[in-house]
Amino acid sequence: MKDKSFESQAIRAQAERSHNNEHSVPLYLTSSFIFDTAEEMRAAFADESEAFIYSRYTNPNTDEFVNKMCLLEGAEAGVSSASGMAAIYTTLAALLSSGDHVISCSSVFGATHTIFTKYFPKWNINHSYFNASEPESITSLITPQTKILYLETPTNPAIEVIDLELVSKIAKENNLLLVVDNCFATPYLQQPVKYGADIVIHSATKYIDGQGRVLGGVVVGKKELVKEIYLFGRITGPSLSPFNAWVLSKSLETLSLRMERHCENALYIAEKLEGHTALEFVKYPFLKSHPNYDVAKKQMKGGGGILTFSLKGGYESGKLFMDKLQMIKISPNLGDTRTIATHPASSTHCKLSIEERNGVGITDGLIRISIGLENKEDILKDIFQALN
Ligand SMILES: *Cc1c(COP(=O)(O)O)cnc(C)c1O
Repeated sequence: MKDKSFESQAIRAQAERSHNNEHSVPLYLTSSFIFDTAEEMRAAFADESEAFIYSRYTNPNTDEFVNKMCLLEGAEAGVSSASGMAAIYTTLAALLSSGDHVISCSSVFGATHTIFTKYFPKWNINHSYFNASEPESITSLITPQTKILYLETPTNPAIEVIDLELVSKIAKENNLLLVVDNCFATPYLQQPVKYGADIVIHSATKYIDGQGRVLGGVVVGKKELVKEIYLFGRITGPSLSPFNAWVLSKSLETLSLRMERHCENALYIAEKLEGHTALEFVKYPFLKSHPNYDVAKKQMKGGGGILTFSLKGGYESGKLFMDKLQMIKISPNLGDTRTIATHPASSTHCKLSIEERNGVGITDGLIRISIGLENKEDILKDIFQALN
């Protein structure tokens, strides 16, 4: 499969057929597996065979999903988990020890932020944040205890793009593990492993499912690191259900088509919105006005499905805009076939102080839109009527 193109891998990298010769891989709803002999069971537990043991460890459906993700990201190994947060927590908890230090971009997913600021200090794991628009500043934050450099690109919800080649060079020179949350881009638009990332994480809940149905997460990357993460997960239990893995494997078959359309619709809408008199700015990686446009063009195949804009009227205008939307729904989710709007200042980021929000690029009037797969004119019409 390694010699096949992305589209073919996403469709053809299936689990092997059972004796029923099914064309589409079936769902394996079983908590455990049996062995013909005690010797076979011993070999499985001794890692001398690849036999399935128990679905908290692996299962044919989770295996298929993980193998496909490894191919699509160009990674050596992978492990799935119940959600994106399970993937992030399991990775960090498996790789870090008390006394270690993490450097992360400051505009990072809210729950990841809470792990760094609220829970890790309990175990004496400290962190520093760097501003995503100044990746050169990372070097000044490195201490002898720094083990992981963690980032998202594009960032949520500021839509900053971080130069993967540059941060990878910083990580290598300073012996840090580079961990990238690739949720917004998906492997179709950007493959961080190619730039030297050691670990790539996804919330499969978003574009990988793409249809707002199931939660899931996946970690791919260097074999030795993934093994440690897998062993930690297999003991602590944040496993992906076979059903969700089955859904996600099928979803991957249409990832390239969906991402093409998400990108086409989002760029069209970003261009039409730019310069609107009610807006302070429009931000989308493939708009020429984006401060990181050149980096985005270098490392991404398309600009993705998320754009933001800031209403001149501030906080109240932000809420009013949301209420005026007709087809587009108010929801915290993203990466769905359906277009979704979020007003971070009154919802996902309401617990941050105004200074903290401004520090990560969230103005009071900021609206994040996850552009769906509906007709782009219908999406635009709804945004325009709400703006007016
Ligand atoms: C949603 C999201 C997560 C968390 O994923 P869940 O599947 O909701 O646990 C992590 N990172 C990013 C960038 C996300 O958008």
